Amino acid sequence: MYHHVKKLMYTVNVDTPDVRFGNMLLEQFGGANGELAAAMQYTIQGWNCVDDIARRDLLLDIGTEELSHLEIVGALIRMHLKPMKTNREAAEADPLVTIAGGGGLNLFNSMGNPWTADYLKITGELDVDLRNNIAAEARAKIVYERLIDHTDDPGTIDTLQFLMTREITHMKAFTAGLESMEKPPFSIGRLRPTPGLADQYFNGSTGDGDEGDTDMRGPWQTSFNLSPVDSEVVGGEGLAIELVDGKLPGEDRGKQDMAHKTTTAPKLDELIGVASSDGKL
Ligand code: MN
Ligand code: MN
Repeated sequence: MYHHVKKLMYTVNVDTPDVRFGNMLLEQFGGANGELAAAMQYTIQGWNCVDDIARRDLLLDIGTEELSHLEIVGALIRMHLKPMKTNREAAEADPLVTIAGGGGLNLFNSMGNPWTADYLKITGELDVDLRNNIAAEARAKIVYERLIDHTDDPGTIDTLQFLMTREITHMKAFTAGLESMEKPPFSIGRLRPTPGLADQYFNGSTGDGDEGDTDMRGPWQTSFNLSPVDSEVVGGEGLAIELVDGKLPGEDRGKQDMAHKTTTAPKLDELIGVASSDGKL
């Protein structure tokens, strides 16, 4: 059940309307990292989360706050777009908003692309969704930061500072929600990755001096049991693909192991139309 309270979560003041900035702000209304996307992503994840009522509450708390952010950013945009209604020059900043939308809000991003559910990252796997949400908050934060960089209006900066800050708050809460599940960090889903192959860092981009950027070394090659492997193309060992098997000991993978095998690398005598050594096709 939803109940709307006719009071903004944060009071919005605009000193000088700027229609072009209002257009940029639409990115946080109907854009990929905007408030509606966040509200829908977390709320629907919460509705899906029937096995963990504690983290369901986390998702619904923050999803609902994002809807309040949508209302705030909407109020801010509306105040900035107001001159479009009467001023031809202002109207030219966004003809779509002016002519089709009467200078009001609609679910478009800053380039006039309609909002889409494709923006949402909803996997139905709680820990995977929480990782999505931590990344989504980081994206929202950086978008607000860039918006702040492009306005001098004190009231606008004040509102954007509130919205930007809350994204970091949410990032903390989602991170705590994920960590408190106490899952090993690389344990995703149910099936195990292939041992050995899982620890091979493939050095797939190489170069040296005049031939290109220097081949770099870093902890991403050696942490968490990783070790670097060079491509056969440059004389290395290549990935240990021979270790890959559809079935690992101790796992019940269902019926797929009984399936008819097709392959990108058939043995010669299995090729259609090629005679094998005994003369049969
Ligand atoms: Mn938000
Ligand atoms: Mn947020």
